[in-house]
Amino acid sequence: MRKLLRMLPLAVAALCCIFGPASSTAVAPPDRQVAITIDDLPAGSANSLSAATIIEMTAKLLGTLHDQKVPAVGFVNEKKLYKTGEVDDRIKALRMWLDYGFELGNHTFSHASLNQVGLRAWEDEVVQGESVIRLLLAEHKMKLRYFRHPYLDTGRDLQTRRQAEAFLVERGYRIAPVTLDAWDWMYAPVYEDAKKRGDTALQQKLTDSYLSYSDTVFAYSEQLAKQTIGYEPKQILLLHANQLEADHIGDLLDVMRKRGYRFVTLEDALSDQAYGLPDTFVGEEGTGWLDHWAITQGKPPQGAPVFPQWVIDLAKPLHQPQP
Ligand SMILES: [Zn+2]
Repeated sequence: MRKLLRMLPLAVAALCCIFGPASSTAVAPPDRQVAITIDDLPAGSANSLSAATIIEMTAKLLGTLHDQKVPAVGFVNEKKLYKTGEVDDRIKALRMWLDYGFELGNHTFSHASLNQVGLRAWEDEVVQGESVIRLLLAEHKMKLRYFRHPYLDTGRDLQTRRQAEAFLVERGYRIAPVTLDAWDWMYAPVYEDAKKRGDTALQQKLTDSYLSYSDTVFAYSEQLAKQTIGYEPKQILLLHANQLEADHIGDLLDVMRKRGYRFVTLEDALSDQAYGLPDTFVGEEGTGWLDHWAITQGKPPQGAPVFPQWVIDLAKPLHQPQP
């Protein structure tokens, strides 16, 4: 919930007033590139889903990505594997990622925030979070190489941030930044609840809202990138493993294609020089790297899109998982 409190004061300026509707242009969109990353594996709400449902959801999500030849890296919280009687099946859901040709990275054992648990405990979380995925990757002749910060919390002070980064580098990790994020984790519990109740009308309403909000966030982020670093870098999109994405990631990919995006690997995206730009961002609340760069330059971003309040209101009573 703390992420949400941060957004409420922003509920004034609608993005369309600033940049105009995203679809009004008749010219072909520019050539854009994006890498897809999917967090909180094996599933955001793994605690309340059966292993069978997780496997079914994973097959659907990966099937779409695989059919459309879209690369992706999934970031794992291994704690979610340990449910009595289901450990093997939950590991099977992770193995599917590699069998389908995708890659796995570490997202800490229990989704620990560097800003909350302190450096030492967080380092333990990183180490504990890599035991199963390291084995699975070795089975596929791959090496563990990517790390994603839970909540995008990278440290409340620069010393902690730099020490954590040095620790990750020492263990062979490359940090996976995020530049595009449309808060699918906020929609997901509401969507999953509607699905459980068979409320297809609400599922459709949520899907429409999610896709249109994503389009708005992409437009805003492209502008912010141009203002901040002078061009649109190879973007990195943050999604989460949930039923909304399993059912509709194909629709989201279509939204991106309409904006001119091609889908590249995380490795390719990270080759963009943007990811080596000065970045001294620190804060109580994690945020994306476009914000990092803008804040580093002393130009905090203005006019971010407003997240639909009605979704927040429906999500509140559902104790939704955090990003
Ligand atoms: Zn997460």
